[in-house]
Amino acid sequence: MDTRTPVQRRFIMQSVKSFDTKPELAVRKLLTQLGYRYRLHNKSLPGKPDIVMPGLKTIFFVHGCFWHGHLCKKGRLPKSNLAFWRPKIRANKLRDSAHLKALKKGGWRVRVIWECQLKKPEKLRQFVSKAMHTDLKRE
Ligand SMILES: [Zn+2]
Repeated sequence: MDTRTPVQRRFIMQSVKSFDTKPELAVRKLLTQLGYRYRLHNKSLPGKPDIVMPGLKTIFFVHGCFWHGHLCKKGRLPKSNLAFWRPKIRANKLRDSAHLKALKKGGWRVRVIWECQLKKPEKLRQFVSKAMHTDLKRE
């Protein structure tokens, strides 16, 4: 018998299926519409960024709200099994911020797009355009 909760099961599924998830595909589509070209899953960079634009020195991570501990409705921890979830999500967040720091140190402009941002395509479009037009030196 499978004794895992639905959330635990989802967690396991998400960690297995980390490539070409739906949110990431949506972001890729948007970037293409905006006329940007990118590369995927650069394994030599910290955190194996989802979307890399080498010429523009820009990186986008597409993060699932739950898995990466976003401060939104979807990122809330379940009430049950807190002892299981809290350390896991916390470890993920620590890892994320370490990757971010390392990339910024390497001169990259790094942006995180959260899964929940995809629900508002117009806002996401603005977010991405703004990111691309920020002067790197001033970050
Ligand atoms: Zn979120």
